[in-house]
Amino acid sequence: MNSEIDKNTSKDLGVTPPPRGRGWGRGLFPGSFDPFTLGHADIVRRALGLFDEVVIAVGYNEQKAGWMPVAERVAAIKRLYADEPRVAVESYTGLTVDFAKEQGITAIVRGVRTSADFEYELQMADVNRQLSGIETVFLPASPQYASLSSSLVRELAHFGHDISPFLP
Ligand code: ADP
Repeated sequence: MNSEIDKNTSKDLGVTPPPRGRGWGRGLFPGSFDPFTLGHADIVRRALGLFDEVVIAVGYNEQKAGWMPVAERVAAIKRLYADEPRVAVESYTGLTVDFAKEQGITAIVRGVRTSADFEYELQMADVNRQLSGIETVFLPASPQYASLSSSLVRELAHFGHDISPFLP
């Protein structure tokens, strides 16, 4: 991973919005975001160039406690986008497509880092489209973040490593 990572994502998003009237409506970016990394922020920034609005949806499983409490994950992401009115942050449990329908979503956005991600995402996208008619848009991970994952960040934290270089 490139350590010269761009931390501008939080303050100056550097986004060119879609041309007026040409945006794709509301995109839903679902994930665990445990924690939300620079890789996630990069996908949000790029999705804001396609969609009029992006809903970041923190999915959780009532049976499984995460690393960070869901409310903290939501609060941290909200702080990050406090100045970006085109971003909303929500939490949900259950099927992503049910939540997507509730939210009036045009399409689901997912980041793809590896061929393994792609295999898994293809299946999910296919099932989600069959269930709801909602399409999934894949954005390829930017090379500098392609090896970055929340699980890697959790592992580094577990061993007392400074994780701040990976977080927006
Ligand atoms: P999930 O548990 O749903 O995979 P994650 O929080 O791990 O949730 O990831 C949410 C989305 O962000 C997924 O589409 C994942 O592929 C994408 N993603 C995660 N890390 C990166 C990264 N470094 N670059 C681009 N996309 C990423």
